[in-house]
Amino acid sequence: ANGILVRNREAFERARDIGIVAFDKTGTLTEGKPRLLDRIALEGARFPGDAGDPAPPRASPASDPELELLRLAASLEQDSEHHLARAVLVAAEEARLDVPTAQGFRARPGEGVTGTVHGVPSWVGNEVLAESLGLRIPPLLRGWVAEATSRGRSVVYVGTEGGLLGAMAFGDRLKADAAAAIRHLKYEGVGWITILSGDHPDAVRAVAAELGADEVKAGLLPHEKVAAVEELEARSRGVAMVGDGVNDAPAMAAASLGIAMGAAGTDVAIETADVVLMGHEVAKVDYVLHLGKRARRV
Ligand code: ADP
Ligand code: MG
Repeated sequence: ANGILVRNREAFERARDIGIVAFDKTGTLTEGKPRLLDRIALEGARFPGDAGDPAPPRASPASDPELELLRLAASLEQDSEHHLARAVLVAAEEARLDVPTAQGFRARPGEGVTGTVHGVPSWVGNEVLAESLGLRIPPLLRGWVAEATSRGRSVVYVGTEGGLLGAMAFGDRLKADAAAAIRHLKYEGVGWITILSGDHPDAVRAVAAELGADEVKAGLLPHEKVAAVEELEARSRGVAMVGDGVNDAPAMAAASLGIAMGAAGTDVAIETADVVLMGHEVAKVDYVLHLGKRARRV
């Protein structure tokens, strides 16, 4: 019932002693896949197919430059396998955009993609690609990019051979219930929440600030997650480690109570975890602690 599988009853009944809950970030507190979160079109940007094109005007709102930016990017990314390309196509679909087919698609590994849209050679990619085309990033855009990257987002640029048109920022979204789940853990008497992650400190700090976590340990390799859990154990009566099993099974095994999230996670995680959550809701963690305490009383 409730999608909670208790594999180790003794560990489960240690719930009362849990003073610290450590969470893995990617896939546990966040959805684990990038999404297009923000985009900006430079003022005066002219897109392939804009006025001057002999084709009749398009039906969907050509007046919104940021939608045009997305349309162009989606057109170029149609044949790309890159995870950012997938995020662009999802966003274009959600915006119900009519996406023209690009000609002469070419992937430039580690840089981006190029192709021709409405007869105009165009591209999507990083600064390396922009610079190889002789394009410079204007100062105004630099500010936007710096802000996005300080929040842990990845940014790519969009342009034609003639110039830069704008940029898009991608990030991994927080799970919808993560913030409330962390508040509930505090009501349940957990005094300290730590986020353990292999990701960049800026990205992890942004997540911690948004969720009200107390501490961040970032840039960790899998074995360093184990050391981090051991250090937390030394500081408290007990640590619960919550992860999705990608790289964090050893850390779960090192904790007083290891909780694996998402039964679709790796087998190793499910075998080393004390409690397995079948679903992906963070809210179940506080319920596990609650049930564990009750089980011991009974
Ligand atoms: P990663 O997937 O870790 O970002 P890659 O080597 O695949 O590493 O890509 C490096 C960078 O090149 C990406 O972060 C992105 O800026 C750019 N890039 C690569 N492929 C694409 C693409 N299809 N669309 C946009 N940007 C891309
Ligand atoms: Mg993970």
